[in-house]
Amino acid sequence: MNLKRILLFLLLAALLVTPVSAASDTKTDLRLPIVMYHHLSPKKKLQGDYVLSPDELEADLQYLREHGYESITTKQLIGWSRGEVQLPEKPVMITFDDGYESTIVYAGPLLEKYGFQAVVAVIGSAADLFSEKRDHMLDYSYLAWDAIRDISRGDTFEVQCHTYTMHKLNTRKGCGKIMGEGYTDYRKKLTEDLTRFRDKCAAEDVQLTDTIAFPYGVYSDETISIIKELGFAAAFTCTERVNHLTGDPDELYELRRFNRPHGISSEKFFSKWED
Ligand SMILES: [Zn+2]
Repeated sequence: MNLKRILLFLLLAALLVTPVSAASDTKTDLRLPIVMYHHLSPKKKLQGDYVLSPDELEADLQYLREHGYESITTKQLIGWSRGEVQLPEKPVMITFDDGYESTIVYAGPLLEKYGFQAVVAVIGSAADLFSEKRDHMLDYSYLAWDAIRDISRGDTFEVQCHTYTMHKLNTRKGCGKIMGEGYTDYRKKLTEDLTRFRDKCAAEDVQLTDTIAFPYGVYSDETISIIKELGFAAAFTCTERVNHLTGDPDELYELRRFNRPHGISSEKFFSKWED
């Protein structure tokens, strides 16, 4: 009987103590929704799953502000995972993939108006092409290297890697491994591409974050181990879910994002976030 009482006492004591020690832990759960945009155009015939009207973007930013969201940069997120940075209470991350000229023409002024920051995922080969062509057709133009340099040094945008030549759906899907390809060959191909991207950014004086957006969201454990080896600190996927982070730096290699399609209201789109 006595032993039972002692055990019961110990059990109750443990139950009482546990929540206290958990609460004193500095790293708590972080709810981080991330929205993924691509191209922007006021032309109705161009709008679709990956092309939004500037008005729809503005409605989203207004929604986020009204609902108390504050945007965070990749630098802040990485700093937080290392225990060096405090994040706002209701963080959100805003991302623009592919590096269209429409990102700076339409999104830039709107982000500034609402006090938000965003990260732009740039494709090396597309930037090369539009640095040579020098034509500016907002319907389809990608950012040239000088524009990428400018935004990377401003306050509104960060720049991240979207691979140099691997933004394609051939035998290889994005920067994923081809079926039957050996790890050594895959590692060599991916390392060459990402190193070329970084070298080009350094040559063009682009300030680059240590982050990557996987083209088409294709990746595997092997992709992650290679980018880790190369010193990347975070990677963005296309899995549509809210991130719940504990502060472990390894969690940042599979950040989930919601693609924002044209044709639905901000309320309807953001209701996906309520989980
Ligand atoms: Zn892309």
